[in-house]
Amino acid sequence: MDNTITIALTKGRILKETLPLLARAGVEPLEDPAQSRKLVFETTLPQVRLVILRGTDVPTYVRHGAADVGVVGKDILLEHGAEGLYEPLDLGIARCRLMTAGPTGWQGGNGRIRVATKFVNIARDYFAREGVQAEIIKLYGAMELAPLMDLADLIVDIVDTGNTLRANGMAPLEEIASISSRLIVNKAAMRSKYSGIQSLIDRLGSAVGES
Ligand code: AMP
Repeated sequence: MDNTITIALTKGRILKETLPLLARAGVEPLEDPAQSRKLVFETTLPQVRLVILRGTDVPTYVRHGAADVGVVGKDILLEHGAEGLYEPLDLGIARCRLMTAGPTGWQGGNGRIRVATKFVNIARDYFAREGVQAEIIKLYGAMELAPLMDLADLIVDIVDTGNTLRANGMAPLEEIASISSRLIVNKAAMRSKYSGIQSLIDRLGSAVGES
């Protein structure tokens, strides 16, 4: 039986905060991912390996069983769905807020507003719940540019310090969701590799508790 556990990690800011947690749980890559262009890393535990992906690809790898476990932002799970996945642990890292934001002093639109975001599903659901008619415009980056260029009235984006918004003449408005990174697990792997995965969850849970 294959007892290897593959953990899919989100590259960038989340990876930086995940590696110390994993180290406290006894899992350390044999090479520093920050110093390497490799995407697959063996670890100090011979049966555990890491793959490093874009956040949006992590649930896909885990849902299809190409990875058993993953670490991904709650924003991605809210936007792309979490079917086929367990979400046993809030890792409490890479905390931020998903918010609406608009030009400083924005008074609200009359009638239909235009909203630029990469989180189109979250935005559509949010404005529908609020009873606000909104045209959702999909962007892949630099959301804060859209109101400046009159592409949109508002944006829905991730806010941490708010510096990015302020630097572009914008201010946060409403919080839609509070975000942190989550551990996700493939449902079939949770059964077939129960002891290895449960022990990883327990050790990561303790590591989160210590931080
Ligand atoms: P800030 O200027 O500190 O409010 O950071 C906002 C920008 O940083 C956003 O446009 C996001 O793209 C990015 N960001 C901040 N925190 C996170 C996070 N936890 N996960 C992903 N992206 C983030």
